[in-house]
Amino acid sequence: MTQGTATLINGTQIAKSLRQDIKTRVARLKEHSIIPKLAVMLVGGHPPSEIYVKYKQKAAKEVGITTEIHHFEESVDLDTLYACVDQLNHDSSVHGILVQLPLPKKFSSQEMWSVVERVFPSKDVDGLHPANQGLISFSNGAAHSPEQGFVACTPLGCLHLLKTHLGDLEGLHAVVIGRSRIVGQPMANLLTKANATVTLCHSRTRDLERHLQIADVIVVAAGIPKLIKAHTVPEKAVIIDVGIHRLEDGRLCGDVDFAEVSAKVSAISPVPGGVGPMTIASLMNNVCLAAERSI
Ligand code: NAD
Repeated sequence: MTQGTATLINGTQIAKSLRQDIKTRVARLKEHSIIPKLAVMLVGGHPPSEIYVKYKQKAAKEVGITTEIHHFEESVDLDTLYACVDQLNHDSSVHGILVQLPLPKKFSSQEMWSVVERVFPSKDVDGLHPANQGLISFSNGAAHSPEQGFVACTPLGCLHLLKTHLGDLEGLHAVVIGRSRIVGQPMANLLTKANATVTLCHSRTRDLERHLQIADVIVVAAGIPKLIKAHTVPEKAVIIDVGIHRLEDGRLCGDVDFAEVSAKVSAISPVPGGVGPMTIASLMNNVCLAAERSI
């Protein structure tokens, strides 16, 4: 059987057009004297987090969203973080609050999520509050209706990539690899709402390959470099690679072995230039949405 070359799903390009749309909406908000503002809480000196925050600041500036960064020393205690969230929750000039994750390891997972869950759902532009995550399952599916809350940025970006490439997802068989609160779980819920038939695989899944063989769409968010090889995926597959890893030689790679898989499947998002820019554009979209809802 001949092997083709996959269509690249270009997140950089798609994010650019999304940012253009957000820029127009922000300009409209300014006519109502509303300047969307994102507050970011950054704790400790985790270099990748500092880089991600810089990317977010740059993207915000480009579309006209203002940012304020609350940078805490690693020694900060939980009560101080709670107090910051409380103050931002009640500051009417702040439309969105983002707690940059992960927090330093001295905080347990439960403590980390307690900071995120303290953010008012109406300002949770990262879409990680349980109220917002639950709304994905229970909303009526109307895009961006107030009752839909906020959708987590990475899955929202992945869905946008899939819809841009495929159009309607109804009836397709989608396999999501990974069930994290940030990516996999909300991704599976979003795809279900989009009328795909969803299989959610994770580290305890038996025989991952068996599920992949019948997939039309595969979203990979396992956090393991080059986990997915060409022989495990069908030719018809459209693949979204969420993983991002720095190799020893300094290059970036995803959870998919891009060189071999892209020579086989129908379409694939690259790393870098796939999901990453879409995550940031989705965040800007959510901040803009929060400001629009404040009118
Ligand atoms: P996580 O570690 O919280 O979750 C990983 C999930 O993968 C778990 O549910 C686990 O059960 C599953 N898993 C692990 N090994 C598996 C295997 N062999 N087979 C099947 N499932 C397996 O990670 P996360 O926060 O969801 O992130 C996943 C990846 O996506 C990471 O590389 C992360 O850096 C990247 N990420 C990228 C963006 C972006 O904007 N590009 C955003 C968030 C996360």
